[in-house]
Amino acid sequence: MTAPRATILVPAPSEELCLGFANTRYWRGSEPAATEQLRAAKDLADWLTAHASMPTGRRGRSGDLDDLFDAAIVLREAIYRIFLSISEGRAPATDDLDIFNRALAQTPARLGVSARAGAYSWVVASPSASLGGVLAPVLWSAADLLTHAGERRIRRCANDKCQGVFIERSRGGTRRWCDMSSCGNRAKSHRHYARSKKS
Ligand SMILES: [Zn+2]
Repeated sequence: MTAPRATILVPAPSEELCLGFANTRYWRGSEPAATEQLRAAKDLADWLTAHASMPTGRRGRSGDLDDLFDAAIVLREAIYRIFLSISEGRAPATDDLDIFNRALAQTPARLGVSARAGAYSWVVASPSASLGGVLAPVLWSAADLLTHAGERRIRRCANDKCQGVFIERSRGGTRRWCDMSSCGNRAKSHRHYARSKKS
């Protein structure tokens, strides 16, 4: 008899998770002065701990991520460009989909679902320390969102300096900014300032 495979329980990632990852570089319209949240493996480890924790036993130690860091940034940029393309009604570049699919293929198998305390989780084979293993929740989130892109309003922030990507879920479908508390208010106060200057 073979030993049972080690498994872990992983909550289903939200569709927003992958966009949160893409937006860890922000104020992209201000290049080359964009703000980079992931400057080193340690930053990536912290982000994963806060947003996409996978209890691999290896994750969270930034040393494990050192070798994967550059590839993680390449993947993040591909994910950003894929959803930026969709938000602008363009087909994503084949090269970006290839980068994405190569990492997606490394994600651990989802072997089943489990109900605990009334909530369902994925039962997942222990992930490898590969790019796809470490970033599995982000990759599943992006795959879910991509395959539902026709039903989602994927938008680019109307603030040209920001260019963050988000899912428009408001009832009226008129949300234009990634985050009303920053970009929206900034745009409003700029309009107010421009008006008051004219008068
Ligand atoms: Zn914005």
